[in-house]
Order: sequence, then structure tokens, then C-alpha cells
Amino acid sequence: MASCKGCGRPIIWIMSSGGKMIPCDPTEVLYWKRQKARGKIVTRNGEVVSCDLDAGIKEEPTGVGYVPHWATCPVAGRFKKERNRG
Ligand SMILES: [Zn+2]
Repeated sequence: MASCKGCGRPIIWIMSSGGKMIPCDPTEVLYWKRQKARGKIVTRNGEVVSCDLDAGIKEEPTGVGYVPHWATCPVAGRFKKERNRG
């Protein structure tokens, strides 16, 4: 298993439908698909879906997928700032 260069946590790489490799947390989570939702999930097929990840939702979940690592990485913000400074 790969690990994040920023925080050292284990990650998996999923090929998106567009052919891009996306680093994700290795744990599968339930998601509820919703247009314009803040959350993002990558399905096993590599589809990136806007969704809610709130287990408190009473509706049936849309399915399971992987959370992109940039959403949970504690140092993801630092990377972004460095890039912006440019
Ligand atoms: Zn990380």
C-alpha cells in the first residue's frame, strides 16, 4: 500500500474515468449522492461523485466509495498554499 508523502497515512490510488490517478483513503465509506454537495467520493469505477458522507442521513445510501485523500489529509492545505505562492 502507498502512503501519503505529506502525512504518512496509507493511501490507495484509484484511476478516475478520465484516466487520472486519485489518491484516496483506503477505507470504504457509504455515500449519498447529491448535486452540489460539498463532499466528494471516488467510486470503485473511478467516478468522482458529489455527495454527502453523513451517516445520520436516513435515506438509503447510494453506495460505497473512497474519500479523496486531499479531503482528509492534515497537511493538504499546506500543499495548496505552497502551490499558490508559486
Ligand atoms: Zn496526507
